[in-house]
Amino acid sequence: MQNKRISIVTGAGRGIGAGIATRLAMRGDSVICVDIDVQAAEAIAAECGERSIGIGLDVSDSAAVNTFVADLIDRYSQIDVLVNNAGINRDAMLHKMTDEAWESVIAVDLTGVFNLCRAVGAQMRTASYGRIVNVASASWMGNIGQTNYAAAKAGVVGLTRSIAKELAFKQVTANAVCPGFILTEMTKAMPPQLFDVQLAKIPLGRPGEPSDVAKVIDFLTSDDAAYVTGEVINVGGGYKL
Ligand code: NAP
Repeated sequence: MQNKRISIVTGAGRGIGAGIATRLAMRGDSVICVDIDVQAAEAIAAECGERSIGIGLDVSDSAAVNTFVADLIDRYSQIDVLVNNAGINRDAMLHKMTDEAWESVIAVDLTGVFNLCRAVGAQMRTASYGRIVNVASASWMGNIGQTNYAAAKAGVVGLTRSIAKELAFKQVTANAVCPGFILTEMTKAMPPQLFDVQLAKIPLGRPGEPSDVAKVIDFLTSDDAAYVTGEVINVGGGYKL
């Protein structure tokens, strides 16, 4: 299996997803870089090398996801690795949380993960091989101003553990990775005082880089991780200690 993997990474256009896509490409995977922004997806695919491609896709659109996965299977026969990384946040205190903020985060961060897992998981089940990693968040345990995001990410943890149980007999593994505080557009958009509060919570004394998350996902999607499934792994420099 080594060096012949077909790997999907969602939200690959920037941030953690771009770090994951380039890391998997470095070990020889053909990376299907998916992003709602097709130009960003294509730019990262170009960095990944000639065997990788960029695709514009909204992960929350289940019909589009099904078509995308069917096309990939026609083209490659098999998908070995699925990394569900695409995510958004629309933070607000509960009493100010709009329907739009609630629904959009659930649609992308939870339903989007379900859509890809269902479509790709069916093929992995048939192939009796697969590695699924879902990017949740340390916030799944609960966080002020993030009822929508925490609910979605807690849902991702439950979904991942359920998939791990369902598909283990087919040698398909599923794990969740929970980044802590990683330097990306998502966190750079924070007000400076909030940024400093988050930084103070990290025992290792620095924010994470996308590559810190990508290295863990590299392992979890490798053959060496064949006996690791249903785990929820924090990558946060001790953020939740
Ligand atoms: P980011 O910089 O905002 O990147 C997310 C990427 O996902 C963007 O390219 C975005 O495209 C894309 N995307 C958004 N909605 C999409 C959709 N419906 N379909 C397909 N692609 C979509 O975020 P990040 O910080 O790298 O975060 C990546 C993942 O890690 C997310 O799931 C996030 O919740 C999780 N996470 C991040 C941190 C952190 O500290 N950064 C901590 C915990 C968890 P556009 O830019 O065009 O919207």
